[in-house]
Amino acid sequence: MAGAFLVKYAEIGVKGKNRHVFEEALRLDILKKLENVEGDFSAERINGRIFVSAASDFDKEDAIAALSHVFGIVGISPVTEVTDHSPEGIIAASVDYFRETYGDDMNFTFKVDTRRADKRYPVKSMEMDAKIGEALLQNFNSLKVDVHNPMEVLHLELRDQVFIYSKTLPGAGGLPLGTNGRAMLLLSGGFDSPVAGYMVARRGVYLDAVYFDAPPYTSDRAKQKVIDLGKILSSYTGPIRLHIINFTDIQMAIYKNCRHDQLTIIMRRYMMRIAEKLAQDTPDCLALITGESLGQVASQTMKSIFVTDEAANMPVFRPLIGFDKQTIINMAGEIGTAEVSALPYEDCCTIFVAKHPVTKPNLNIIKASEMNLQAVSDELVAAALESDKVILVKAGEFKVCGSENAE
Ligand code: ATP
Ligand code: MG
Repeated sequence: MAGAFLVKYAEIGVKGKNRHVFEEALRLDILKKLENVEGDFSAERINGRIFVSAASDFDKEDAIAALSHVFGIVGISPVTEVTDHSPEGIIAASVDYFRETYGDDMNFTFKVDTRRADKRYPVKSMEMDAKIGEALLQNFNSLKVDVHNPMEVLHLELRDQVFIYSKTLPGAGGLPLGTNGRAMLLLSGGFDSPVAGYMVARRGVYLDAVYFDAPPYTSDRAKQKVIDLGKILSSYTGPIRLHIINFTDIQMAIYKNCRHDQLTIIMRRYMMRIAEKLAQDTPDCLALITGESLGQVASQTMKSIFVTDEAANMPVFRPLIGFDKQTIINMAGEIGTAEVSALPYEDCCTIFVAKHPVTKPNLNIIKASEMNLQAVSDELVAAALESDKVILVKAGEFKVCGSENAE
């Protein structure tokens, strides 16, 4: 069993009595994400950190990529295991480690920080720090010691296993998946909704998703784009049940019976109603998520959001509400959805959109307009729900599960 990574987490450390629940969720998600990486991994909780070991050779780059998709991790330190536990063995390994890690680039200050979990170890921590520091200075004369504000720290952990490390790569942050329930993401093909889903999932929330499809006005390519975005998201969130709802008849009915400048806002209200019904049929799913951002387009003014929001009773999370478009696009780049979002496929809203949609809808007027649909509304919603196709979207693969909610 060789040491592989030391994983650090921050926020879950302050959760009091629930701390072990968070740590266990994190440990399990780490193992889950590493399932797809070559190597036989195990993970154990040690002193407010998680130590990942590999029983076999493993692909370091793939493992780091997998760990960077785990919510709750703030730092990933690749560790080097030292097999010779004698002080001389550890000193020699530290010199080798510096040579391999920093090569010719040793113009920096450093210190050594030893943690002696195994108190039976014959040399005390401070003494070990000094011995290793001295050996490093002797071998690499451009190095300087700075114990107060070093540029690099060589960490030595003395326990059943002995390992050293000095590099910490950033993690995704947030809270471990599943520690905060489940929510239904309204997922369209743009930049916003995938980022919104990511942000809520990062707070420990599992995702389900719904896409409103409008064939033949929208193409299969547009639908595929949403599936592809779901796949990227699921590399962080685990499998996502993506509901595909046929929205065409609702859209046509609104088009025929309501003022065209009200089309988008009424459509949005139907989306909220249907998404809420799907969420109500999903165990533990207690909120909706959209990619709305205040003022971004006509349907996202304060008044529009007020009118949209009124259609659903569940809490609606809009994590992008205060973000500029460019910030959202940058985030999409960071999480890996930007490239797919940038593809130029139409969605149902762009096809029927009026030249001058209302920017200040009035709830009473919109409700009055919806009365024109009263006779067919329930039937249309029922038919839309009936059309539900659930796709279990997974990173790298997906399978169609038919029209029932997949378990
Ligand atoms: P996005 O970038 O997420 O497509 P957008 O800037 O295009 O958003 P709108 O088209 O106004 O914004 O949609 C606002 C939100 O409504 C979206 O972020 C998404 O959550 C939801 N939404 C819009 N169209 C659909 C759809 N066809 N299917 C599912 N959700 C949708
Ligand atoms: Mg859109």
